[in-house]
Parts: sequence; structure tokens; C-alpha cells
Amino acid sequence: MNIENTLSEAISILQKNKILNPRLDCEILLSNLIKKDKKHIILNPKDLLNTKQISKFKNLIERRKKGEPIAYLINNKEFWKDKFYVDKDVLIPRPDTELIVEEVLKMYSKNSQKQILDIGTGSGCILLSIIKERPNFYGTGIDISKKSIKISKFNTKQLNLINRVKFFHSSVDNFRFGKYDLIVSNPPYIELLNLKYLDKNVINFEPKLALNGGFDGFSKIREFVIKAKTLIKRKGKFILEIGFNQKNKVKGILEDEGFYINKAIKDYGNNDRCIISTKI
Ligand code: GLN
Repeated sequence: MNIENTLSEAISILQKNKILNPRLDCEILLSNLIKKDKKHIILNPKDLLNTKQISKFKNLIERRKKGEPIAYLINNKEFWKDKFYVDKDVLIPRPDTELIVEEVLKMYSKNSQKQILDIGTGSGCILLSIIKERPNFYGTGIDISKKSIKISKFNTKQLNLINRVKFFHSSVDNFRFGKYDLIVSNPPYIELLNLKYLDKNVINFEPKLALNGGFDGFSKIREFVIKAKTLIKRKGKFILEIGFNQKNKVKGILEDEGFYINKAIKDYGNNDRCIISTKI
């Protein structure tokens, strides 16, 4: 079968299953599979695919048909300036989370020298993006998921950052290592009872461990803030991603633990998404 026939068959399968952008999805999956760019696929519709390629592609279409996110099917997602390896064991990096990177870069000049900790690092995308932009920063990432640590280490190698970043498989509770100028975190913050209302493609495929914020949505945030207090230097900065309706409560939690609130930042959808605070 050639590219054109293979694509049109796959597009109609996705259409039947109400997948939103069937043509785009199929082009991304096929170009990734045959390691060519999308332009190649569009310009060479008569190129033949071999049986191995076709069977692999069919398999990907079967998975996409059930709603599995493209990022897990091609095992990468762009975040900030790089592509990160991802699979079902880590949350797919979100554009809104780039706000944390952006704010850190605004706060520290190119040559500043800082120790940074990322709590619940997942794919490592926040920490590694910052470290790459600031050549004198040293980073530590922790995650309660052992599989996530394997992935963040893999991403560190891909980006040639192994000299400046360490990852530990650890709960925040057991972690007692170092004092940091800066702590960042995108904690799980979805209220337990609201998990089922998340987009089905999110909740059916992404790790609940990375989303579940407990009964009120604040249980991990509370835990992380309390721990950050002991791991941060005086005047150190703490940057936390939060849910759209969590700003006031999180401000209160931070203030109770001795943090001064610098500001809250809105995401691209105009929702409160991130709080910057300083340990006093
Ligand atoms: N922003 C994520 C979502 O919309 C949630 C991430 C998190 O809990 N840290 O699904």
C-alpha cells in the first residue's frame, strides 16, 4: 500500500471514532513512524510502505482510535525549546507549565548561580528546560514514581545535562538532601472527586499519581509547601503551579508556612495557574 491509501483508510477509522483532527493525527503518526517530516508525506503520496510499517501504523491507529494521546504514541512532546521523551508513566508536559520556566528566567540573569529543586519532576521538563537556559544552575529532581525517574534521567542524557542535574526516586517526605535557592513544582492538584470530569483522554491515559490532589485537591500542595519550607534557603523562591480555582487557598497555605506571596500568574486561558513566593 502507498502513503495515500494507507492514510485515507486510517483517517476514516479515526473519523468513525470521533477523533477530532483525524488527518493531522494520521500524518503525525505516519511521518513519525517512517522518520520523515510531514511535508514528505504530503508531497510523496505514491511512495510505498512495507508490511512492517503498515502493521505498526495500524497498531498506532488502533490506540489513537481509543483516545490515547498522540504524545504517548510518538513518545515525545515539545516543551519550551526541546522535545521530551514521554510515555504513560509521566504526565504530558502542558504549554501552561512553561509559565514556570518563563518566570524563573525573568527572575535570574544568565550568569547567576543557583541550586534548584523540582518536586514531582515527572518527565523532568521544567527542571531540564531551566537548567539548559542557565549554565550555572545545578538541579535536583525528585519523584515518587520510580518509572518517572528513569524517564527524567533519559531526558537529561538526551539534552547533555548530566553534569548539572541529579534525580532521586523519593517521596517528598523522605527527602532531606540539600538547601535550595529555588524550588519549583507542578504538583498533582485535581480534586479526587473531579478526576472523573477531566477530559477522557487525560484521565484514561495519564498517570493518576500525577493528577490526584486528594479529597480537597490540596493534599499534595500542602505536603510540598511544608517540605519546601525546610529545604529552601532564607529568601529562596518557591514557584508552584496550581489549579484555576486554588489561588486564595494556596496563598493562605504558603503564608501559614512562612512564605511571602510575590505574585500569582495567569495562564494562556486567563486562569490563575502559578504562584511565586519567597521564604522569609
Ligand atoms: N493541568 C493538568 C490538567 O489539566 C493537571 C496537572 C496537575 O495536576 N498537576 O490535567
